Amino acid sequence: MNLEIVPAAAYLIASLCFIFGLKRLSSARTARSGNFIAGAGMALALAGTFLLPDMGHFCPILVAIAIGTVPGWLLAKRVKMTAMPQMVSLFNGMGGACAMFISLGEWIKAAEGPALPKLLGIILGSVSFTGSLVAFGKLQGLISEKPVRWPLQKAINACLLLAILASALASVRDPSGGLLWILALAALALLLGVLQVLPIGGADMPVVISVLNSCTGLAAALTGFAMHNMSMIVAGTLVGAAGSLLTVLMCKAMNRSLAKVVFGSFGLVPKGAAPAAQGDQTMREIAASECAIMMGYARKVIIVPGYGLAVAQGQHLVHELEQLLEKRGVEVKYAIHPVAGRMPGHMNVLLAEADVPYPKLLDMEEINPEFEQADAALIIGANDVVNPAARTDPGSPIYGMPILNADKAKNVIVIKRGRGAGFAGIENALFYQSKTRMLFGDAKKALQELITEVRGL
Ligand code: NAP
Repeated sequence: MNLEIVPAAAYLIASLCFIFGLKRLSSARTARSGNFIAGAGMALALAGTFLLPDMGHFCPILVAIAIGTVPGWLLAKRVKMTAMPQMVSLFNGMGGACAMFISLGEWIKAAEGPALPKLLGIILGSVSFTGSLVAFGKLQGLISEKPVRWPLQKAINACLLLAILASALASVRDPSGGLLWILALAALALLLGVLQVLPIGGADMPVVISVLNSCTGLAAALTGFAMHNMSMIVAGTLVGAAGSLLTVLMCKAMNRSLAKVVFGSFGLVPKGAAPAAQGDQTMREIAASECAIMMGYARKVIIVPGYGLAVAQGQHLVHELEQLLEKRGVEVKYAIHPVAGRMPGHMNVLLAEADVPYPKLLDMEEINPEFEQADAALIIGANDVVNPAARTDPGSPIYGMPILNADKAKNVIVIKRGRGAGFAGIENALFYQSKTRMLFGDAKKALQELITEVRGL
């Protein structure tokens, strides 16, 4: 048998695994197996690479794989659900660095072949590498999460971009001094990644991570072109396409244009913006016992989960409460905002973990018309996604973002620990409305109390 076809066959099967695995990631029911299939595809692609005729020494590669695998495994095992965005960002940065180094290596190793894929691989990989590290630092609290701005910022970034293009051109035109030019190009692109992400902050961060993710995918695909590696082309294209689609979906859900995310500065309150909560500044408290009566004798309750529910890990208790209410004949549904929590699908994953039946989780478009018939909306650790300022206050940083119409329910109960703001850092007028009652406390503790009270009804 001709052994040279083995790597090609491994790459083909691996590519099919990536596509099939990605398809299965689109539903909570099949996501686990999708992840496994895509992972198996990656293992197969790695095994196929070892069988390439010009592979060279195995030992340094195996050592590098071990060095990468151990911290990767430990981090993935230990990461908290709420810290997923920064972990994705860190891993994405590593992907960008790989694409950058491989393209650099290809450039240094072989003068022949088209230069464009290598150059673009270096540029996109470098931007993605440092951009993702800055995003990680912001989300992890290592550097200020707020947008960092300085004078002539956009002009400086435009000059950097021009300098990158000039070094790319020079490296192709002047092969003798090409190495210096190519190193200058990489250094400038690394700097651009830092300067482009520093001025971004707040709710735009996960969108930026998604943009960087598609950059890494594209860089990997271009590197695959440079190396004639089919598996890298397919995997990179899939990551690039998935990242781009996710970016578009998130921008839509937050009513932000991509240009505003990348060139604007979320979190800087516009000049002249009115404070969101005007008039009556009293929050009306409710006891768990009263709250239990309100819900236990209701016909319909809509639960709005948010970031705080994930922080408190109250998903199992909320499912228990839902079952108790249903036993009493109350119709219970969950309203899922596309950007509730800290990553797309956060609430779906959280509630799926507690075995909440999937048909009970309704998307914003489906559930919004139902709030008017609900006797109570139970908001648990959500804030921005129910903030009416998104509808009414043009000065608000979240103005225009589609929100859940919890304020249209007959009664609103909010579980949160205190007066803490949401991710956008702004007040929420809903909490001061006369129909709203605040059940203060950690979501897990408050849910536990509610369950006890509903049982006693
Ligand atoms: P949120 O606006 O961040 O509000 C969470 C609320 O939960 C806070 O007001 C906090 O108030 C409360 N809380 C925190 N810990 C709690 C605990 N242990 N128990 C009870 N309450 C707790 O959350 P959200 O409504 O889910 O909105 C998500 C935000 O993230 C949006 O601004 C969205 O644009 C942004 N974002 C999300 C994504 C995504 O993909 N999901 C992407 C980009 C941006 P207290 O401190 O008073 O308790």
